Amino acid sequence: MSALRRGKYPQVEPGAISLMHRAVAMCPSGLTVREALALVRRRHVRLLAVRDRGMFGLILPRDLIRAQALGLETRRAGDVAWRGIPAVTPGATEVTVRRHLLEGARAVLVREGRKLAGAIEPSAAALSRPALSLLPRLERQLPREMLGLLHQIGLAAESVGVRAYAVGGFVRDFLLGREAAELDIAVEGDGLALARRLASELGSRLVVHATFQTASLEGGGPVRIDVATAREERYREPGALPEVRPASLSQDLLRRDFSINAMALVLSPAGFGDLLDPLRGSADLARRRIRILHQLSFVEDPTRIFRAVRYQTRLGLTLDHNTRRALRLAADIGDYPALSGQRLTAELELVLTESAATQALLSLGRLGAFRILDQSYRFSPSAAKRVGDLGSLLRWLREHSIPLDVLALSLLALLAHLSREVAERCLKRLALAGEPLSRLTAALREAAVLARKLATQPQAPPSSRASLLRAHSLETLGGAWLAGAGRARREIEWFLAEGRATRPLLGGDDLLALGVAPGPRIGQLLDRLRDRRLDGVTATRDQELTLVRKWLLRAQASPAQPMGKASEGAWAAPSDNRPTALPAQRLGGGVGRGAKPPSEK
Ligand code: ATP
Repeated sequence: MSALRRGKYPQVEPGAISLMHRAVAMCPSGLTVREALALVRRRHVRLLAVRDRGMFGLILPRDLIRAQALGLETRRAGDVAWRGIPAVTPGATEVTVRRHLLEGARAVLVREGRKLAGAIEPSAAALSRPALSLLPRLERQLPREMLGLLHQIGLAAESVGVRAYAVGGFVRDFLLGREAAELDIAVEGDGLALARRLASELGSRLVVHATFQTASLEGGGPVRIDVATAREERYREPGALPEVRPASLSQDLLRRDFSINAMALVLSPAGFGDLLDPLRGSADLARRRIRILHQLSFVEDPTRIFRAVRYQTRLGLTLDHNTRRALRLAADIGDYPALSGQRLTAELELVLTESAATQALLSLGRLGAFRILDQSYRFSPSAAKRVGDLGSLLRWLREHSIPLDVLALSLLALLAHLSREVAERCLKRLALAGEPLSRLTAALREAAVLARKLATQPQAPPSSRASLLRAHSLETLGGAWLAGAGRARREIEWFLAEGRATRPLLGGDDLLALGVAPGPRIGQLLDRLRDRRLDGVTATRDQELTLVRKWLLRAQASPAQPMGKASEGAWAAPSDNRPTALPAQRLGGGVGRGAKPPSEK
């Protein structure tokens, strides 16, 4: 009665002390992974705690084992610690403890004064809540065809004796109210049996990857479906592809990249629509944050760094503190010989398909992610400026329907500030080879020089300006645009939008009809006509016909004229109302199509 009067109900509050275990020890700072593991074994503890600037951190023995398996036993154990672990007094209420755990804390530490007394892990706080049913929301939010497909998958799974779950991006995007472009299904049991069954029911095209126990189905439904047998993964080397083996759904969720991608939706009829979220991805989505599932996640698979930044920019999320630390650790370790350049390039290309691609590149640069390409890589303010400008360049190119290699341009923006050796090492690390590599290497060498030249060159007729730019690849022009400003950029834009596209109004057939013999001289004459058009000397077909006739007459009149300076000058005269002395043999001579007019030599 007195408790009620004070506004409190008498209740049994277990409190922190009754939830904690004492199998936790302080890990002296500076201990290596190997030494910390020895400490765990010697003291028979389940957790190690570290202190960092007044805060507690936590080292999980399984992360130490992971680090050892990855060959990192001489690194500091503190590198794999979760930081910002909440600490409570023994008298703290269970509600307080549960709140910390529900917010995603790996554990709650209990301290008496400055002394560590124990730790409470999620299992002790009875956190396994009943699965939340999303059925009403599924029925409200999903198009009828999609909802029908999910039911059909669940029934098909039941008929082949397996359990099916929608996982990954589909669940994440559903919770965010976004439409997913594909549907990932994880299967407890034989995933391929379900894939075959579905393909025959839906009439989809089925592609099976037996080694990975995965299959994809295209056609026959509203979205592409990827089916995978639930699995666990083990990484033997940083960046290497993992060894996989069939596992339960919980283990499958644990091997995923981020908590927001580690949720599952039950599709089997019993429990259809239940959300399984053991790693609290929905709480992270609500708090708009990306959280890795263990501190070595990026070391195991550095391509996850690119994935993290893709989600960050696409969904407007932020990387949580421990995720940033894990990323720095992975960038520090660097190198990753087991990670192929092709995989890295593929990830970079995926980043570039995002609508906020340049924003993502900026994030990657600022986070130090490109040190994975080469440990000497530094993202300087000038690189940030180029990447910032890249967005405008790409927009301009798209508006003018100029197809340009986005990967190449991005690499120019990212690498132009580096020394030649470092930039070339980065390109090789991305497994670029052959023609694309040599074009990019040349662009890195020439772009800044070209930009300077364009900014300072004296006024020249359009044909000369076009000729200077025509001698460079599109990569070099893009690189020079990024390296330059004002006048240099305007010159390149003019060339790409106008100069490059200008053609003579006459064609090869017209020249043949005028009596020009077949051969290289046709191309040369067409180039000359194009230049006259660029310079505004000709504007109509008739003017071009007249001009060619004059050239031919002049060539006939002085067939033996040597190819000296005088005739070269006549070739390139910008104003061509006067007849140009064109020696016949010069027409068929060694100057190739696109050669520089003498005015530039
Ligand atoms: P997106 O919309 O970008 O396609 P997604 O989540 O569907 O996002 P996928 O690349 O199709 O991404 O991968 C499907 C799921 O597989 C992810 O949600 C994630 O759970 C898991 N996954 C993919 N790549 C990795 C990886 N490198 N490491 C761990 N898990 C991964």
